Amino acid sequence: ESKTGRIVKALSGYYYVRPEGAAPGEADVQCRARGIFKKRGESPLVGDVVDFEETENGEGAVNALAPRSSELIRPPVANVDLAVLVFSVTEPALNLQLLDKFLAHIEHAGIDAVLCLSKQDLAEDGGETEEARRAMSEVQRIYEPIGYEVLVTSSRRGAGTAALKERLQGHLAVFAGQSGVGKSSLLNALVPGLTLETNEISNRLGRGKHTTRHVELIDIGGGFVADTPGFSQLDFAELGIEELGSCFREMRERASECKFRGCTHIHEPECAVLKAVEDGEIAPSRHANYALFMAEMKEKKRRY
Ligand code: GDP
Ligand code: ZN
Repeated sequence: ESKTGRIVKALSGYYYVRPEGAAPGEADVQCRARGIFKKRGESPLVGDVVDFEETENGEGAVNALAPRSSELIRPPVANVDLAVLVFSVTEPALNLQLLDKFLAHIEHAGIDAVLCLSKQDLAEDGGETEEARRAMSEVQRIYEPIGYEVLVTSSRRGAGTAALKERLQGHLAVFAGQSGVGKSSLLNALVPGLTLETNEISNRLGRGKHTTRHVELIDIGGGFVADTPGFSQLDFAELGIEELGSCFREMRERASECKFRGCTHIHEPECAVLKAVEDGEIAPSRHANYALFMAEMKEKKRRY
């Protein structure tokens, strides 16, 4: 009898499948993949929705995979449909270049994004600094008008975490952001009983946290979050130079109004994007980062 489920963990050749509609606490079915996958050179990934059947020994077998809506290369997870980009208001300082790079790759992968500004308590009166407050308003001013939702959270205060959990409902999400921005603390705040290691602890033990390199889906009740230990960065499929412009939402929207087809929005006359930057409709930092990534891609191409 064939059933439907989702792979929530992969380890040592086994796939752990959570049956559709499983009750909380119900055990996952430990499955092998059918030989057919090897023959076709494909392999199941964490996040895959699968047809499986239970076999005699209490184990199971994965028979088929449903088509994937997205595929991350590292961490290897299928069907991620929401990326939560975590940036702290300070410690480490806000890095718009990194934010724009993440966003470009996420757009390219066809995944929706939410920006999460963490450690909001450090921007409050009696909290850290003016710089933190400025970082907060800057992110809201630049990214909300382009259509990215910005959530402000403090794991320390328990602020904003309910709204974040609500936003994750029905999704398979992945958290990304520099080490130290508070991703593990956020996940711990979202899931009662979850105790991912956070930075203080690992520093005390004198080793980096998250030494394992396997991925597991955390059930947050109504949604999944990929726990991505050991992956401080996300790796996406290669992004081509000619695709870069379409990965910046506000540029993509205007590209059809540029005079030249294939306009790179760097130096062309009658470029609708450059005009929008001049008119204050596109944030200068967004365009500057776009131009920087394009230059980096050209340089990389030249060297190979
Ligand atoms: P990760 O590397 O992104 O997983 O970050 P961690 O969750 O390990 O947190 C890094 C550091 O930031 C730790 O020292 C946390 O205690 C601290 N931190 C996390 N969340 C908050 C917060 O909401 N407010 C403050 N003030 N510090 C936080
Ligand atoms: Zn243009």
